[in-house]
Amino acid sequence: MPFPVIGPRQEHSMAGSVVDFKNLSCEGQNNYLKALRSFPGQAIIDFSALVGNMRLMRSLFAPSEVMGIVKANAYGHGLIPSCLAALKAGCSWIGVAKAQEALAIRKGGVGPKMCRILAWLANCVWAPYEEMIEEGIDIALGSLDEIEAVSKAAQKAKKRARVHIVVDTGFSRNGFLDRSFESALALLKKYSDEGRFEVVGIMSHFSSADMEDGASERYTDLQLENFSKFVRRARAAGFKGLLRHIANSASSFSRPLSRLEMSRPGNSFYGYAADYALGSPQDFGLTPALTLEAQLAKVKDVGGGRAVSYGRTYETQRETSLAIVPLGYADGILRTAGGSNSSSKKAGAPVRILTSSGPKIARACGRVCMDQFMVDLGAPLERLGVLEGDTVRLFGPGRGEGEAEPTADDWAKRSDNISYVIYTNLSLRIPRLYVNARKELNEKELSLLNPECVLS
Ligand SMILES: *Cc1c(COP(=O)(O)O)cnc(C)c1O
Repeated sequence: MPFPVIGPRQEHSMAGSVVDFKNLSCEGQNNYLKALRSFPGQAIIDFSALVGNMRLMRSLFAPSEVMGIVKANAYGHGLIPSCLAALKAGCSWIGVAKAQEALAIRKGGVGPKMCRILAWLANCVWAPYEEMIEEGIDIALGSLDEIEAVSKAAQKAKKRARVHIVVDTGFSRNGFLDRSFESALALLKKYSDEGRFEVVGIMSHFSSADMEDGASERYTDLQLENFSKFVRRARAAGFKGLLRHIANSASSFSRPLSRLEMSRPGNSFYGYAADYALGSPQDFGLTPALTLEAQLAKVKDVGGGRAVSYGRTYETQRETSLAIVPLGYADGILRTAGGSNSSSKKAGAPVRILTSSGPKIARACGRVCMDQFMVDLGAPLERLGVLEGDTVRLFGPGRGEGEAEPTADDWAKRSDNISYVIYTNLSLRIPRLYVNARKELNEKELSLLNPECVLS
């Protein structure tokens, strides 16, 4: 495959990107060009950031194990690649919410010898329990109906099901309450004695570990206390050597005692604290892995007093220019990210534009549309040197000083949300491209990635 030839206008377009086009391999360059032609926005994911975040957590939380959480397409970062990054950093456990996600990992080539997978959300009527048992997937049991269904599946599969008991310590989502726990333990005991279950672990989930007010801290204490009580009862019922796991990103960092045998940090794997109020990625030594970029669809000079987008919530204040960023709520850009300055005032989410005098932060103005939103560039185009097709950055790890690249936390702040939602929402039509994958993975691991997604 020959190196592609690109013209000056294409070079201009790429100048704002984090992708170091000139230094990519021929294959990498062709993949990037193909992605640019297939869609006007890209999520560029740094493999080394994922591996580094997980290595950091594994060393901080040791001797507690760390489960790599890759539910919801790995919070938007890509299921198999993120899974491989967690394994590369030494994880032996992978966690997902839905049964089908666990099966997708196995189908993607990550076999039972490579890691354990736990799936914690299913329903007893339709869940593919038999297939899960055959694929060696651990199943979290949170209801009596589920215990019965998994026991039947184990009998059919002629194989012991590996199960974890889910207990409700105060979140009121999945799990047994005090009142049903005795019956649950009795059933679990019966089926383990009959060789249908291997009860591997016991788990729960915190409701407020990311909040630092006194009442929330006391509530987290209370949940931990409740968890110990459930564990004691399970032990008394004969379940020994249970893997206890309850910690999420927030509590794994802030409460060493919550880590127990294993913690389950999700958001921090992708480079962010559970809440921006707790600190920046840098404060935690984390590196955000995903950079979202787009190519400006249209740019134009406009005068003052122009109403922008639906409902006229934004009006230009003087001679300026507007640009269209071709990502909208169909792509996962939150409608709350828009900016208004007419009836009510609210700064829009930031976008970093490369001008002839350096990077500049422009803000989303007016309502976010289905496929696009507008930014006010603040000056005429000629002065800025901004052209149609230029690559702009919506968020990333925060590179640069002064007009630094925005982060997903900045987007969360401007759209009344949390970083989780900012990247998990990104639609599948946005290509996911990986850099540093070749650096981190061996040939066999690389062969599990879609080759068109690998830039370097
Ligand atoms: C999502 C999830 C986690 C990870 O939570 P973070 O806040 O992303 O660290 C852990 N455990 C369960 C059960 C979850 O649903």
